[in-house]
Amino acid sequence: MELYNLKHPQQVVNFTQALKLGLGKDRGLFFPKQIPVLDDIEALLAMPFVERCKKVLGAWLSSELGQDRVDTLVEKAFNFELSLAKADDKRYCLELFHGPTLAFKDFGARFMAQCLNELASDEKISILTATSGDTGAAVADAFFGLDNIQVVVLYPKGKISLLQEKMFTTLGDNIHTVSVESDFDACQDLVKRAFEDSDVRDGLHLNSANSINISRLLAQICYYFEAVAQFKREHKQDPVIAVPSGNFGNLTAGLFAKAMGLPVKRFVAATNSNDTVPRYLDQGDWLPHATVATMSNAMDVAEPSNWPRVEAIVDAMSWSLSDITGVALSESDTSEALKELNRAGYLSEPHAAIAAQALTLTMSDDDKGIFLGTAHPAKFKEVVESELSIEVPLPPALAAVADKDILSATLEADFTELKSHLFKVL
Ligand SMILES: *Cc1c(COP(=O)(O)O)cnc(C)c1O
Repeated sequence: MELYNLKHPQQVVNFTQALKLGLGKDRGLFFPKQIPVLDDIEALLAMPFVERCKKVLGAWLSSELGQDRVDTLVEKAFNFELSLAKADDKRYCLELFHGPTLAFKDFGARFMAQCLNELASDEKISILTATSGDTGAAVADAFFGLDNIQVVVLYPKGKISLLQEKMFTTLGDNIHTVSVESDFDACQDLVKRAFEDSDVRDGLHLNSANSINISRLLAQICYYFEAVAQFKREHKQDPVIAVPSGNFGNLTAGLFAKAMGLPVKRFVAATNSNDTVPRYLDQGDWLPHATVATMSNAMDVAEPSNWPRVEAIVDAMSWSLSDITGVALSESDTSEALKELNRAGYLSEPHAAIAAQALTLTMSDDDKGIFLGTAHPAKFKEVVESELSIEVPLPPALAAVADKDILSATLEADFTELKSHLFKVL
């Protein structure tokens, strides 16, 4: 597989290099030179999930890694269930939260961890990543206990739920966590600066595990195929798919799936009040505002880092940005969306509820749609309970961490401070 840097197209790397580098020169994102197209989609959709994943990922990776290696990576990474649940007559939820940390990020994080473990096993590596909520838990869990890999996770202090925080800050061992006195964009900026600093990057063999890493995006393509496979067993038409979006890795993966030949009628990019993309799709101007805190906090991102890839896919396929529908929901609309789903008999959480409502707002009478269920309702227990006046029981994975101590260091959003901390702990 060949990838080029979107900022410096002459920088070309293979998958293994892109996996290890994370970002290219000048923070440029790696983008595939070619998007493989799959034939006989119907046969593919009829396959069991894991077998189909091997084909989908093999189309990208078998020429470089060999199909046997791809098969092993898939089997180790995708060892949990996913399902399409009916919410009402027109809407289905693709439940991506049955993995070890109860969020869709388990897919990307586990695949990336397996890739690094397999393809970079002879080197010492440090993973540095920023999280607005669930990435931290997924990355920490996926890498916990792997030899030769140290992990540092930055997150905005006080801006993620206590349970979310407990899921990744209580592990210890090779997992180091830092709460930063600022917002997610500041955390993301610190990570980017660390990658630009050659002492840190080269001295510590840095790698980023957030959604900019191409291995995570490739893994996420797989569940779009599963969504459509399950949907098509009941419906002849192609689904509209709404994606609750923050950094837009998830939507990027969906667009890759469609570019590979997956039948999707249309994508809806759904955000909370951090609405840079819906405003851009509507008015054509890229004008990020300051990040605002919302109850769907994993989507509190004003400058989504994957957006250049979305544009690159649209370009490569000669699609138009107007094929993507943008919807932004306020806090009160999010609350109403969550209640409305609950009245229909489907218990959800704010991120998925935003996407569900985005379907309702944009589907025609004949459309049916899928919204991505990116996190388990219990992961947002406080807000779900207060919005719906119900009790949400803790699943075992969360109950186990609730009483453990948080082991994080706290730092200002200051790169010099972070740098000395990194050299201290790694
Ligand atoms: C990360 C996350 C999102 C946003 O996904 P992106 O790929 O960053 O757009 C949505 N919902 C939840 C629960 C998340 O953790």
